[in-house]
Amino acid sequence: MKPITILEMITPQEQRFGGRYIDLTVIDDAEIKSGGGWLQLVVEDDDGDVGRLFVVTFEQIKTSIEGKLGFGSRIRVLDPIFMSFTSEQLSGIRVFEPKCIAYLDGVENMCRFCGEENANECKCSKCGRKYCSEDCIELDQSKMMHDLICYAV
Ligand SMILES: [Zn+2]
Ligand SMILES: [Zn+2]
Repeated sequence: MKPITILEMITPQEQRFGGRYIDLTVIDDAEIKSGGGWLQLVVEDDDGDVGRLFVVTFEQIKTSIEGKLGFGSRIRVLDPIFMSFTSEQLSGIRVFEPKCIAYLDGVENMCRFCGEENANECKCSKCGRKYCSEDCIELDQSKMMHDLICYAV
């Protein structure tokens, strides 16, 4: 199998990239999309490009992903499928079958802002999310609108 990147996958039509794989780091908390049925994640590939990943949450796959997909998780998606919609919010990589996800070693205590590993030094005083430094807390609040997700997880 050959690797592929998010940028290489972006196509105007739905496309399945057979024989390819993409390694992704989850950089967002898992969220069930309104209407249900899909788990929506923001992911980053090894080039640092960011995209969306949608995983079907039907019962069959639910038990296999529970607790494994969240901030800092690393996964390999096999034979990835890219789907494009007029609404960019819905465009992204889609996973329909549990066997298309392999779980890699996650990033331990990933800093919410810079992605650094082993961020045990600092926590947001309100929600408890972890950071490597006070600077990263401040930058997350001023540049990344941390307030929008500042609630207990
Ligand atoms: Zn940091
Ligand atoms: Zn917070």
